[in-house]
Amino acid sequence: MSVPWYRRITKGPSRQKKRDIPKGVWLKCKDCGEVLYEGQLRRALWVCSKCNYHFRIPAKQYFEILLDQGSFGELYQDLSPADPLGFRDTKSYVDRLNASQKKTGLKDAAIVGTGSVEGIPIAIGALEFSFMGGSMGSVVGEKIARIMDHGREHRMAVVTITSTGGARMQEGILSLMQMAKTAGAVARLVRDRVPFVSILTHPSTAGVLASYASLGDIMIAEPKALLGFAGPRVIQRTIGQELPDGFQRAEFFLDHGMVDMVVPRKELKSALHKVLRFFSPPGE
Ligand SMILES: [Zn+2]
Repeated sequence: MSVPWYRRITKGPSRQKKRDIPKGVWLKCKDCGEVLYEGQLRRALWVCSKCNYHFRIPAKQYFEILLDQGSFGELYQDLSPADPLGFRDTKSYVDRLNASQKKTGLKDAAIVGTGSVEGIPIAIGALEFSFMGGSMGSVVGEKIARIMDHGREHRMAVVTITSTGGARMQEGILSLMQMAKTAGAVARLVRDRVPFVSILTHPSTAGVLASYASLGDIMIAEPKALLGFAGPRVIQRTIGQELPDGFQRAEFFLDHGMVDMVVPRKELKSALHKVLRFFSPPGE
């Protein structure tokens, strides 16, 4: 008996060839749908060449992009989270922590340390979104506050890179207390006249934006990053009004004076260097 024609087509060589393409070599832009070659995307620092969409990248990659090669030295990496409330939702907090630690190789969602930008020393901290949505619990708050104090004591500008959904609900009120702690550390920077540059990436929201991340002397955001306290749907339901176009995007924040610059990732280092130079005492 002959094989039906449709079966022959579905088993044809072109289909076989498609399956041979190794996974992850081609990626679809999450914004415009353009199919992009991974190697090219990596060289473009994970920015879509067609629509300028900025893919989310790991915290560590920002250190590579912003800091002079080999200049980063991590600090306070031994701080690890506890579960003081014995919290459980669909999973226990301890299980969530273990899974994130295994996935990222980090103890918690913040990486902090020192490095230099074109020779200018800075204290720097970044949030890792793939660790429980970059959420701020006790360890994240403590590390951010400590790196700010470190920068202040050593008279180095402080730079933070934010990528977060906000406070970590699994630590309840202890997470909310980090808002006061980190904002207090910023107040000490202000008092001692040490510059603080806050870089916001997609997304930078809720308890983190409502504390230290919006308190930078200079606020820089990546294009199209979602910024805000509550999400757009919650606001729309609460006020019962249509929200304007581009509401809560970086460009909207720029238009309304909440950020100072919207800078594409490729220009982030030179923009940061310019800002740091501006704050450097003459002759340094
Ligand atoms: Zn795109």
